[in-house]
Amino acid sequence: MKNLDLLKRLVDADAPPGFEEEVRVIMIEELKDYVDSIEVDVLGNVIFKKEGRDDHARLMIDAHTDEIALMVRYIDDEGFIYFDKHGWIDDRILLSQWVKVHGETTKVRGVIGIKSAHLVSKEEAQKTIPASEMWIDVGVSSREEVQEKGIDVGAPITFNRCFCDLGNGYICAKAVDDRVGCFALIEAMKELSKDQFDFSIYAVGSSQEEIGARGAKTAAYAINPQAALMLDTTHATDATLTRKKGAPTELGKGAAIRFMDRLKTGFTGIMTPKVMRDLLVNAANENQIPYQIDVSAFTWTNASTIHLARAGISTGSLLIPRRYGHSPSEVTNLNDLQSATRLLIAAVRKIDSTFFDQLNTTF
Ligand SMILES: [Zn+2]
Repeated sequence: MKNLDLLKRLVDADAPPGFEEEVRVIMIEELKDYVDSIEVDVLGNVIFKKEGRDDHARLMIDAHTDEIALMVRYIDDEGFIYFDKHGWIDDRILLSQWVKVHGETTKVRGVIGIKSAHLVSKEEAQKTIPASEMWIDVGVSSREEVQEKGIDVGAPITFNRCFCDLGNGYICAKAVDDRVGCFALIEAMKELSKDQFDFSIYAVGSSQEEIGARGAKTAAYAINPQAALMLDTTHATDATLTRKKGAPTELGKGAAIRFMDRLKTGFTGIMTPKVMRDLLVNAANENQIPYQIDVSAFTWTNASTIHLARAGISTGSLLIPRRYGHSPSEVTNLNDLQSATRLLIAAVRKIDSTFFDQLNTTF
């Protein structure tokens, strides 16, 4: 795939919620020659603006820069580090993971400790150990030695995993969610820089999605767009044990256009308005870009807060399927990422003067 090196750099960068600088730096470096202005705001969002002929018409494009992570909660006398989770993490994937604890000046390698199999009783083997009882071992024997490494309570922690090419277009990495979205946003903005539009485009690398879609909320308020296109990942349920009925997307079948999502409780999510569904579906059909329709009644994305900003913003969701979500080993397919990038470009190019007029009249 073209520019695979950029994708590698994005997934290998560490950006826990609230500490997204490494990804911001990559995005700024990539896009600085292709946009009219760049701003980093108080929440850590980076906002790239491509000026249109009429700045009153505004389109926001969003991809979140942060990833699921941990944070140091307590360091005991022996130097073992206890932590909290930032983002939706299944406790069962944590044991024995290699991690990086972000110290003042360097990242310190550590491992999440586990009782040796020889010492685990039959009863213990049946139980899930809660994350609150796990610890990180950074190879020291006292709290002071941990602190000498520049680590204290409040230090963020990320998984110590690198990009892995599985072959046949499949890759495995941490933070596929949502660096593939950042990748599509970067590549699309480069391509769209060749065009002159009647409307301005504000492309946002948004912060703190994994802890409640926070950055996108303030970015949407500040930009005040009439429409938004949001890029994220979705659940591919084509692997053993998670098949089909859970959700309809599969790897290799194209980008996913989401028609609806919500948490089971219904407290957050989005009903994608018809005008945005049509924009994406028609752009895909007209350009022979493979796509899947996604309906997910167990999740949410930045679209959930963007569409509720101000008096409401027409928001569409374009998603890249990935297996093993919110684990350090997310697997995705590069063809789907290419489809999503192409579809984003095609959808933006399809927006004409009548599009903005329809937004208030068509749900
Ligand atoms: Zn995400």
